[in-house]
Amino acid sequence: MIGPLLKGLGKTLEQMFRKPITIEYPEKKREVSERFRGHPRLLRDETGRIKCVACHLCETICPSKAITVVPEGGPQMHDKHPREFIVDLARCIFCGFCQEACPKGAIMLNRKYELAQYRRDVLIYDKEKLLEE
Ligand code: SF4
Ligand code: SF4
Repeated sequence: MIGPLLKGLGKTLEQMFRKPITIEYPEKKREVSERFRGHPRLLRDETGRIKCVACHLCETICPSKAITVVPEGGPQMHDKHPREFIVDLARCIFCGFCQEACPKGAIMLNRKYELAQYRRDVLIYDKEKLLEE
């Protein structure tokens, strides 16, 4: 009779002194793996200019049509940059195809995972927001 009781008590004590596997989120954040795919962000070159040349490859390859690129200037302009670059994070499935397709290394997925919002429009990121991320 006392045996199973002591066994149960032993198990309880064992768990009490074990390192917890949960964390106190959101006060503590979990480290994500190197391969974790967050949402896309735009990058600048070493001179501070946006790397994107508005080639539309990411926009074309995106399976969920989350990207909209509007180039600056007319079709004759050779030094192209986007006038507008929009990513709808409510559509994005974090597949990373845009990053793979970009010939300039101008778009990369970050490692952020806190994207929950009450309003959908907050998840529509424009160029400035994508650059500051
Ligand atoms: S990660 Fe995938 S779904 Fe999201 S914008 Fe890039 S290509 Fe589109
Ligand atoms: S982010 Fe890359 S693939 Fe997308 S339009 Fe700019 S240069 Fe082209």
